[in-house]
Amino acid sequence: MSDRLPGFSTLAVHAGAQPDPTTGARATPIYQTTSFVFNDADHAASLFGLQAFGNIYTRIGNPTNAVLEERVAALEGGTAALAVSSGHAAQVVVLQQLLQPGDEFIAARKLYGGSINQFTHAFKSFGWNVVWADPDDIASFERAVTPRTKAIFIESIANPGGSITDIEAISTVARKAGVPLIVDNTLASPYLIRPIDHGADIVVHSLTKFLGGHGNSLGGIIVDAGTFDWSTGGKYPMLSEPRPEYHGIRLQETFGNFAFAIACRVLGLRDLGPALSPFNAFMILTGIETLPLRMQKHCDNAKAIAEFLSGHPAVASVSYAGLANDKYNQLARKYAPKGAGAVFTFSLKGGYDAGVSLVSKLQLFSHLANVGDTRSLVIHPASTTHSQLDDAAKTKSGAGPDVVRLSVGIEDKEDLIADLEQALSA
Ligand SMILES: *Cc1c(COP(=O)(O)O)cnc(C)c1O
Repeated sequence: MSDRLPGFSTLAVHAGAQPDPTTGARATPIYQTTSFVFNDADHAASLFGLQAFGNIYTRIGNPTNAVLEERVAALEGGTAALAVSSGHAAQVVVLQQLLQPGDEFIAARKLYGGSINQFTHAFKSFGWNVVWADPDDIASFERAVTPRTKAIFIESIANPGGSITDIEAISTVARKAGVPLIVDNTLASPYLIRPIDHGADIVVHSLTKFLGGHGNSLGGIIVDAGTFDWSTGGKYPMLSEPRPEYHGIRLQETFGNFAFAIACRVLGLRDLGPALSPFNAFMILTGIETLPLRMQKHCDNAKAIAEFLSGHPAVASVSYAGLANDKYNQLARKYAPKGAGAVFTFSLKGGYDAGVSLVSKLQLFSHLANVGDTRSLVIHPASTTHSQLDDAAKTKSGAGPDVVRLSVGIEDKEDLIADLEQALSA
């Protein structure tokens, strides 16, 4: 064995997986079981008391899911991870460990439309208050900090316009405020950006998108960077105070630099219940094996299409950070040198009606509400994902009435360009 550290593509194929010790199966089996037999009564008691690691019940953990968790933790450079049933479930489980009713968290205004809804409405009913800040104005994060602030939440590459967030600058604000920085890395995937390398304390993903990559399975994951000290000032009682559910142990004291991942599992997933099906974990693991190949093709296609659209007479503007003249190109060069992702927007001279018409004329691009599929996708955010916002808020979040969003797939770029050409000239 050489002592070389394995590279990203090797980890994408191998991290967390071994040939099955009983059968020799080389692909990770789907452990389609709800529960696991204990060795004896002592073993059972130690598993329930968190004195030993092992399988109890699939709502809390499953061997197929464990391979997925180890693999994504390795790809992101974290200490541990927890897989859950969707990206939104990951967000709930993370914030449940950090916020008490009446607490606040700061979120970047440019976010996935579903996250804007979840933060504004669902979380309000838990007593968690979101305070919005502008990712293009770092000082707006500093101004939003109060004694009740418990976290900052941003996207690395932000929906819907594919803008690049200055993770390091915002992590400096988080550090000064003494709160963790949570980065939703869904649109970048760790192939393009590893937020932990830039100061993130927690990374979340919708595995549904580029990591699974084939538009066939929902999933979410939480990665613990192991960087945050949860013991300070009694601010995070779920992690620092004795837990009555577990004979009074303190999670930070007992589990150190992976205490947050443990809290998410034994307090979040166990009690809230959004477990990932092992079948979905298997599908997503299979997807991750080709992540580096797919991501590079997604980015190369996206850049070619952004360039084509920039030169088209029906197009008013293209917002793609991979273009040399884009507002976010400097940040893209710093944070995502391999490519600026495959989700971006452009605006049409013909406004709202032209957006609706384009979407209906495209044939190879599927009109639907998803991103990160092998297939190319298109949507008109103003009439769909962002329709709940008023016009000013739509424009502020990059989803004005004339804006169309693409998620560029891995087909031949010449075919995608031909489809756009026919739909734009129709
Ligand atoms: C899709 C998505 C989510 C939500 O994930 P689900 O798996 O659909 O629950 C969160 N953040 C981003 C950036 C997304 O694209």
